[in-house]
Amino acid sequence: MSATQPTIPDRGMPSGALRLLFLSIEEVMGSDGIKAVLNGAKLSHYINNYPENSLEYGVTFGEYGRVEQAVEDFLGPRGARAILIRVGRELFRYSLREQSALLGIAGNALKNMPLISPQAKMKILLQQIVGAANKTVNQPAHLEEDHDNFIVVIDQCMCQWRPKHEKPCCLVTVGTFSEAMKWLTDRPVEVKEITCLNNGADACRYQIPKKLPEEA
Ligand SMILES: [Zn+2]
Repeated sequence: MSATQPTIPDRGMPSGALRLLFLSIEEVMGSDGIKAVLNGAKLSHYINNYPENSLEYGVTFGEYGRVEQAVEDFLGPRGARAILIRVGRELFRYSLREQSALLGIAGNALKNMPLISPQAKMKILLQQIVGAANKTVNQPAHLEEDHDNFIVVIDQCMCQWRPKHEKPCCLVTVGTFSEAMKWLTDRPVEVKEITCLNNGADACRYQIPKKLPEEA
């Protein structure tokens, strides 16, 4: 881990959000994997004792960031990349299964809506996710778009409590948006984090192309 430690005050988030991250890591890395990660993050009190499934602000952005960082430290930056993206994909699937009502995400009703374009559906789902980030997760965010792309802009992120990276490091979020778009459109959509608070930008921005890849 690099030496830079953040000094900004920590920020509350719902216990259920950190719980969801743990469940997703466990799904991808196994029960020994999540144990190693929690030990590495110096959060071993959560081993076999996940935060409750609640929207109360019982945990912090700093804790969430430390867990992401511990995955990276455990696997090395290269190895961690694919794993963190898979964790993010899992996280979307869990949210959709367990918490779609709570998050205000329309799920299958949206996916199966006739007569509107995939791009219109993408916009609706992205707006719902951004709404949930604002309302539920304590994470200010909004959606922008230009001719070719949707851009999700996130103004406060767990990466602000992680050591500095040279490149954008919010791979769990990249995975979450990738899976959301894949689930919705049945196509692989290439989501990129184009700016990151962690390395000095004013926001984390995720670029989601409107043009879908051709069906295989
Ligand atoms: Zn970021």
